[in-house]
Amino acid sequence: MLPSQQARALLAGLRARRPAMLRLLEKFVRAESPTEVKSAVDRFGRLVAAEWRRRGARVTFLPRRRSGDHLRVIWPATGPRRRGQILVLGHLDTVYELGTLRNMPFRLARGRAFGPGAFDMKGGLVIALFAADALARARCPPRRRVVFLWTSDEETGSATSRALIEREALRSDAVLVLEPASGLEGRLKTRRKGVGTAELIVTGRAAHAGLNPQDGVNAVHEMALQVARIARFNDPGRGITVSPTLAAGGTRSNVIPAAARLVLDLRAERQTDMRALERRLKRLRPVLPGAKIELRGGFSRPPLEHRASAALFARARESARALGLSLHETSAGGGSDGNFTAALGVPTLDGLGAVGEAPHSANENILIDALPERAALLAILLATLSSDGS
Ligand SMILES: [Zn+2]
Repeated sequence: MLPSQQARALLAGLRARRPAMLRLLEKFVRAESPTEVKSAVDRFGRLVAAEWRRRGARVTFLPRRRSGDHLRVIWPATGPRRRGQILVLGHLDTVYELGTLRNMPFRLARGRAFGPGAFDMKGGLVIALFAADALARARCPPRRRVVFLWTSDEETGSATSRALIEREALRSDAVLVLEPASGLEGRLKTRRKGVGTAELIVTGRAAHAGLNPQDGVNAVHEMALQVARIARFNDPGRGITVSPTLAAGGTRSNVIPAAARLVLDLRAERQTDMRALERRLKRLRPVLPGAKIELRGGFSRPPLEHRASAALFARARESARALGLSLHETSAGGGSDGNFTAALGVPTLDGLGAVGEAPHSANENILIDALPERAALLAILLATLSSDGS
């Protein structure tokens, strides 16, 4: 733990750099980076890489063919050999398509900074850079080797980065995730539900709805029977939800439908519940004679369980206290890349990024005053975390 005096001096130094933080945030937000447009994500990645190189970091591009390249940053790149590793996770991509800036420009108003991706999570990327600056200025290098992994496809489920994230996490003593904080008090996310999507494909047999309906097998009817069964799998008290979110079936108003398709959103708080739910879905059998069903998909992000975060959260709260700030925790419905690392048993703390409101919406914004505070918090965590993650 840094002495409180040193911690507060670090925060004061970062508060004085607030204008520079905002200038960098503006530059980042104006470099639009929708997950689907590789050239745009790569252009933004080069901007981020240049900022780290300017700070003496070692930056490696991990090329991907269709999605944007991922960035692996080691900082500081030189210095004494360090034992243990801290992994900091963030993503370069946003959910906003190219041109969003025209109707949603970067702007400052009422103590907030607005713009596509300001909160999720370009603010977090700015926080990381200024945390590194603050440690360099205080001549207080991290005790562990720090790897920052900036990936390009988090918003679409991390298909091309998951293996990389997991490999790096297994080498690390702790994982810090710069996803947005929760609420305007900046709560950390110490619990996240596992998330998945399943698809139920129903096959029946077509027939004329008036002449020979008895020869058909109604796929929409079968789907409805399955929906009623699946509804019983919900257990909100344990944080288990299975929600039919898309349904389609049939071809014409007078034809018994031969095919139907149902999409299910899956959530669970515990790994055991996640597995049990997947098993129950796999065990579904058709009800109507002659109908066939097939289940595809399942959980794509396992839950982040509280025990993976508890010790790290206690450390973060102590660090915040040294800064004269209070810090709280909460659970979050959505998943992040922290879910992957926590499921491997690596201590993981999520929600260390910017404080703000309305992610993924036209009103997305962050609290300007919280930028230096979050950078100071991250700096102190990086400086003081030891190899057991506590
Ligand atoms: Zn995010």
